Amino acid sequence: MKAWEKNIRKVVPYVPGEQPQLEKMIKLNTNENPYPPSPKVMETRDKIENLRLYPDPMVSKLVNAIAGYHGLEPEQVFVGVGSDDVLAMAFLTFFNSEKPILFPDITYSFYDVWAELYKIPYKQPELDENFRIRKEDYMEENGGVIFPNPNAPTGVYENLDFIESILKANQDVIVIIDEAYIDFGGTSALELLPKYENLLVVRTFSKSRSMAGMRIGYAMGNKELIQALNVVKHSYNSYTMNQPSICMGVASIEDEEYFKDKVEKIIATREQFKKDLAELGFSFPDSKSNFVFATHKTAKAKDIFEAAKKEGIFLRYFNQPKIDNYLRISIGTEEEMKALVAFFKSYLNQ
Ligand SMILES: *Cc1c(COP(=O)(O)O)cnc(C)c1O
Repeated sequence: MKAWEKNIRKVVPYVPGEQPQLEKMIKLNTNENPYPPSPKVMETRDKIENLRLYPDPMVSKLVNAIAGYHGLEPEQVFVGVGSDDVLAMAFLTFFNSEKPILFPDITYSFYDVWAELYKIPYKQPELDENFRIRKEDYMEENGGVIFPNPNAPTGVYENLDFIESILKANQDVIVIIDEAYIDFGGTSALELLPKYENLLVVRTFSKSRSMAGMRIGYAMGNKELIQALNVVKHSYNSYTMNQPSICMGVASIEDEEYFKDKVEKIIATREQFKKDLAELGFSFPDSKSNFVFATHKTAKAKDIFEAAKKEGIFLRYFNQPKIDNYLRISIGTEEEMKALVAFFKSYLNQ
């Protein structure tokens, strides 16, 4: 080993789902929205100008639009390049204790990567046998709490009473609720913001707003928390969010009707797909997200995953303890889900 090698930061990076570049495929592996963003977003594209200038470092237009949408003040909103950027910034800003931060053993697999990257001590309490968070595990001393609601990759949603009991027990640390999937049927923790100054709610445009390619995420919380995030961001890189993303993000917020229509469609498709899955011999925790986390009574998840891929159908498989016989299946269009069900039928000889 060369002397300088010991000074290199060692991290095992997050492994994102495959992004195959095929003309024809059914892509249900990364929870993207199967529908395009609002036509208003695409119209905005032609109005983008002044790319020679730096974008607004405060991202004011988008911050104002998001604040207005949620009935908050602009000082309560922080915008970043996808919620991954927002979350990474939040880890750096809020998790600076000697005590471990807490998040579930089965959850978004970026959390432990950021904790390792920033050398934040952490503990991962086990989900129960129904993939539910045991709230007692979050009542011990800690340096902060984070989990998604609904959780990923399980799709399991916990109600506001549950979230509030965790907040109540953790008023000395920051509690982050990652609401990447909340638009697909859950109630947001946003209404707890006036009561808990230590709550940060994080959202993304990648799933329900069909804009994964634009990279827009945001956090909402009390002004002090948002100010703290801005201080860290502006100590790192002021111009993270590009001008097209700012304009197109605003356009998405402005088209509420389109947004609602597509979310409802995905929910309806999901409910039908749950019925089809059950008939095929799959079981799954109830999902309030745009994916279902399913296991089959006889067929092995890994085998199904590989057979589907050969047919151009991409699903997500996690080769890790406890969930290695599960598939995470994103909700696509009705046609895509029908094609998937047809594939399952033939694969399972039903
Ligand atoms: C998709 C996802 C994110 C990241 O979303 P981006 O805004 O695309 O970076 C964060 N948290 C969870 C739980 C997710 O599923």
